[in-house]
Amino acid sequence: MSDTEKLTEADAANELMRLAREIAKHDKLYHANDAPEITDQEYDALVRRNRELEEAFPRLVRDDSPSKKVGHEIAASPLSKVAHEVRMMSLDNGFNREEVEEWTQRVRRFLSLDENETVAITAEDKIDGLSCSLRYEQGKLVRAATRGDGQVGEDVTPNVAFIADIPQQIDDPNVPDVFEVRGEVYMSKQDFTALNVALLDAAKTDAAEKGEDFDPARVRQFANPRNAAAGSLRQKDASVTAKRPLKFWAYGWGAASDVPNASQHDMMRLIEAWGFPVSPFLTVTDSVDAMIAHYDEIGRQRPDLGYEIDGVVYKVDRLDWQQRLGSVGKAPRWALAHKFPAERAETTLEAIDIQVGRTGKLTPVGRLAPVLVGGVTVTNVTLHNRDEIERLGVRPGDRIVVQRAGDVIPQVVENLTGDIEREPYLFPANCPECESEAVAEDDEVDVRCTGGLICPAQRIQRLEHFVSRKALDIEGFGTKTIEQFFALGWLESPADIFRLRERREDILALEGWQDKSVDNLLVAVEEKRAPDAARLLFGLGIRHVGETTSRDLMKALGDISELRVAAEKFFTYRAENPQGEDEKASPFKARVDQAAKDIFGVTDGFGATAAHSLADFFHEAHNVTVWQDLMSQVRPPHYEVETLDSPVAGKTVVFTGKLETMSRDEAKAQAERLGAKASGSVSAKTDLLVAGPGAGSKLKKAEALGIEVIDEAGWADIVAAAG
Ligand code: ZN
Repeated sequence: MSDTEKLTEADAANELMRLAREIAKHDKLYHANDAPEITDQEYDALVRRNRELEEAFPRLVRDDSPSKKVGHEIAASPLSKVAHEVRMMSLDNGFNREEVEEWTQRVRRFLSLDENETVAITAEDKIDGLSCSLRYEQGKLVRAATRGDGQVGEDVTPNVAFIADIPQQIDDPNVPDVFEVRGEVYMSKQDFTALNVALLDAAKTDAAEKGEDFDPARVRQFANPRNAAAGSLRQKDASVTAKRPLKFWAYGWGAASDVPNASQHDMMRLIEAWGFPVSPFLTVTDSVDAMIAHYDEIGRQRPDLGYEIDGVVYKVDRLDWQQRLGSVGKAPRWALAHKFPAERAETTLEAIDIQVGRTGKLTPVGRLAPVLVGGVTVTNVTLHNRDEIERLGVRPGDRIVVQRAGDVIPQVVENLTGDIEREPYLFPANCPECESEAVAEDDEVDVRCTGGLICPAQRIQRLEHFVSRKALDIEGFGTKTIEQFFALGWLESPADIFRLRERREDILALEGWQDKSVDNLLVAVEEKRAPDAARLLFGLGIRHVGETTSRDLMKALGDISELRVAAEKFFTYRAENPQGEDEKASPFKARVDQAAKDIFGVTDGFGATAAHSLADFFHEAHNVTVWQDLMSQVRPPHYEVETLDSPVAGKTVVFTGKLETMSRDEAKAQAERLGAKASGSVSAKTDLLVAGPGAGSKLKKAEALGIEVIDEAGWADIVAAAG
């Protein structure tokens, strides 16, 4: 892979797009299908690469960035790992009759069967749960493991003890010495709904006890029964699992010292006789017609089943044939999952509402005439963004087709009234919460409210950010305090923090506050009345103006008042220097980048993106008011970077591996204090690599490039020597 520092923005954007797609695909394979195609190590490498690129190109961070989601990093699991003696397979999928026919033909060809020979195929519904392997030795359950990546899963032995469907002991004198029963741990639809209601109630009670406002949107609920089953089983504390109504059914087996029967079906009946539930639809068919008929029948009953299924699994019944067929990659040739199509329904789009997220993103939500889709009443659909509305050409009043697939939020797949001429829907140009201008940046599909500091939808989060450790770092100013003061109308904008001293008596009158705690808070606030200018700037949460950019800007500008001057200058430049008619995009961008560097005086790692963002910020009248108000309360001193005389001054340092005595942030801050530049990736420009235990590719690369490598102790010596 090429080094991030040598990548152009376009290349990086492309790679990030590809990574977002790829990681989403693997997440889906892992979560939705429980059938990963890559190892966790390979998955981790993708996630790491994505992180590296995002660190190098912060403006390119995508809205669908994998870093914003919880991945399937098994490494983070507190459960211990178990290697499967026999790999847990995944299944190939078929989506229609033709594909099922093709599969049976492939089986016949592979086995060179006569045309007249019948191939018995088992068919059963495919429950949407979490695959699990249960190992019995001398009939006693000795270990339960999740699928994991198919080769290594997680040990959930204490957890399955609470699943009534799983016998701890097989009472059959003839049970093989070693036998692994495989199947799905799942949660019924009813139990799933009840669990979510219980989680909501518990959160409500908890909030009431603590005297907090209850916000249902913040309660962690499960998206679907499969997530609920996985989340309930994969608990470090098995007593949590004990409280969750999990079920199990068997679909096969893994390692076995003996397989007493000659067919899949007979084996499943034996496993059933041992006390394991099996699919109520398990049957043996002898033709494609019979398979499809069974599939159709299961599909008809699907909405009324008490559990979620996503298809029908076919398996070649004769075990000697299964043996001969073997597997290709991770999937056996002798099995096929015949998936159900996504569920769809037709309804009317009654309205389009715009929701403003905590980061200012405007998300259109379609309100529907309630419609039943796959047994669930759907009243809302996501319309994603402005482009999606345009693509679908939807307007309130249109007849549309909505689709629900797995746990995905219902989506609009088709606009049935699309062709009829009517006024198109106009995406709002202003934020519905605060009336500020809502804009989309150049190559972005998302429209955002520019009201940042005054937008109610964003204000609490902005205030939290403002007082956070990396910004103003006001001690003892937590989320709860902010939310409480905000609700009382005491905190409209950052400047109000510095007016809290006028409310000393009011705060004291609140429950939970004493003289001492109020004084502590007010003292902590007063201490920041002459704040570090870079932290103050970072605290404003202007898009694309992160910690480093804030420091670089203040280093260049010295006085924070110069920032607004520069931003206005850039605004004027932008208005007066549009893209020339013959000018191509990339020279234009280079020209604006250069202007941004010239105007703000920052040469390294600064360009048009942050400059545009600053210009927009100071062009919004609300922001200027907030800014002036804040400036009337604080006096940041002239910004000067004190750099210590050190052997690493002016050098580029990279930290990798695990640091034991300090955090990565602290190490980077030390490097900067010593006048060095801390970088995220190793390149020819790197002067020094500080490698802790577990250092991997960066260490190899540094060694290959002949870069000096030291350990954490060596780094500590440098820091200590510099004083
Ligand atoms: Zn707004």
